[in-house]
Amino acid sequence: MAKKSKSVKSSGVLKSVKDSSKKKVPRKGSPEPRSRQVMFRPGRLKYVRGLVKSESCVFCAALESGKSAKSLLLATHGEAMIVLNKYPYNAGHLLVLPKRHVAKLEQLTVEEAADVFTLQKKALHALSELYSPAGYNMGLNLGAAAGAGIPDHLHWHLIPRWPGDANFFPLIAETKVVIETLEQTYKRLVPYFS
Ligand SMILES: [Zn+2]
Repeated sequence: MAKKSKSVKSSGVLKSVKDSSKKKVPRKGSPEPRSRQVMFRPGRLKYVRGLVKSESCVFCAALESGKSAKSLLLATHGEAMIVLNKYPYNAGHLLVLPKRHVAKLEQLTVEEAADVFTLQKKALHALSELYSPAGYNMGLNLGAAAGAGIPDHLHWHLIPRWPGDANFFPLIAETKVVIETLEQTYKRLVPYFS
């Protein structure tokens, strides 16, 4: 117990912060003054504002690599796109989203919203033709706390539903058996968007 409290007191982090604030002159034998390194990168502002795609975003990466069963990018229309959900709740579980990497609904332009809506209608038509589901869940999870797996890039879930396929919540919490592979789903849906 005593050992523990001692190690907290002499924490390397605390010590180094103190040292760097005191040091005004170079240390003997050290080529540079000891100071905190600050990396100024004004170019990052465009990423923060969502003007440029994030390199680590799976949706932006899918858009970049183009339409294929591998990228899961199914269709594009103007400023919007459709991708297959990699972890579908049901066969035909699609995501409709703006191409632009934005997190908030209020960041969408009228044009982007219109293109998203057009693709939502096309997707509903395709899914109805192909799967004849009894209903759909369609909606947004805004923020990680609301269940969004990728909260930084706004996306609408579009999920075909059948009676007895359980409720909406296993989408986040449980394992679900889906009757076809993503590649099969992709191949079946792609003719509706060409
Ligand atoms: Zn993105």
